[in-house]
Amino acid sequence: MAIEVKRIGVVGAGAMGTGIAHVAALAGYDVRLTDAKADRLKAAVGEIDRNMSRQAAKGTITAEQMAQAFKRIKSGPGFEQFKDCDLVIEAATENEAVKKEILQGLSKVLPPHAIIATNTSSIPITRLATATDRPAKFMGMHFMNPVPLMELVELIRGLATDQETYETVRAITVRMGKTPAAAEDFPAFIVNRILLPMINEAVYALYEGVGGVDAIDTAMRLGTHHPMGPLELADFIGLDVCLSVMQVLYEGLADSKYRPCPLLVKYVEAGWLGRKTGRGFYDYSTEKPTPTR
Ligand code: NAD
Repeated sequence: MAIEVKRIGVVGAGAMGTGIAHVAALAGYDVRLTDAKADRLKAAVGEIDRNMSRQAAKGTITAEQMAQAFKRIKSGPGFEQFKDCDLVIEAATENEAVKKEILQGLSKVLPPHAIIATNTSSIPITRLATATDRPAKFMGMHFMNPVPLMELVELIRGLATDQETYETVRAITVRMGKTPAAAEDFPAFIVNRILLPMINEAVYALYEGVGGVDAIDTAMRLGTHHPMGPLELADFIGLDVCLSVMQVLYEGLADSKYRPCPLLVKYVEAGWLGRKTGRGFYDYSTEKPTPTR
């Protein structure tokens, strides 16, 4: 049986936390949002306003729904504001020490019935659970980027997660308008376990000269009906993020088939991380992105 959830806390107001707060408020939950950086938190509230306005302009939501949802979001520093939350979603920087410190802090202020979920992409749920005082009420809730647009949420149970917690988080996911997919707690879960080796293979194809950037992306876009080619997608995700997921797969599964492509490592070493640095497999300084190989 699911427990009733009225108020949701979100820790981390980056790309993901901002989107999670947005969809939670639109689903009718009271939202409390925090970030370690005050300026980021302020920017996040502005982004939610702009993104909701865009939805309202398109007619996806009404102006009234937007106004109500926006009013339900409160933001500020520290965890005290979470003491009445029924669920807190941790969406801070992908760093185990940072996340463990947050989970310890949350454990001190949350009421005993509250559930804690993490949006981690790669850290084992079972291991993060040990930093909380409630491993049975802890699980993974892995949203996709950009959260307001992407339909999927992977739900990951740790070894200790109880059924009530899973059912509750599943019901919230559905109320947020998302479709849940259950994944077990193994490296990179489902989407990244399959997607990142495909991207890595595309980089190998480039590295071995099977095709140039343009040929590989065109082939995959038109040949498999993917909306973006794998190298374009890698630039969008960030090449450092792609490399780190491959390292998690390589180390976590101890299988050479996940060996990160040396060319991917080279791009990251050069600081060519994709869109966010203006250059990756494409150079974004030109009007139409130009392939860098
Ligand atoms: P981001 O860097 O945009 O945001 C992280 C935020 O966490 C920053 O604003 C930072 O100031 C804040 N933060 C750091 N330490 C904190 C603390 N102690 N207390 C409060 N806030 C703190 O990162 P993101 O892309 O939003 O990713 C967040 C999480 O979501 C990560 O675990 C990531 O793996 C996961 N994720 C990311 C994506 C993606 O495509 N970006 C997709 C799915 C899951």
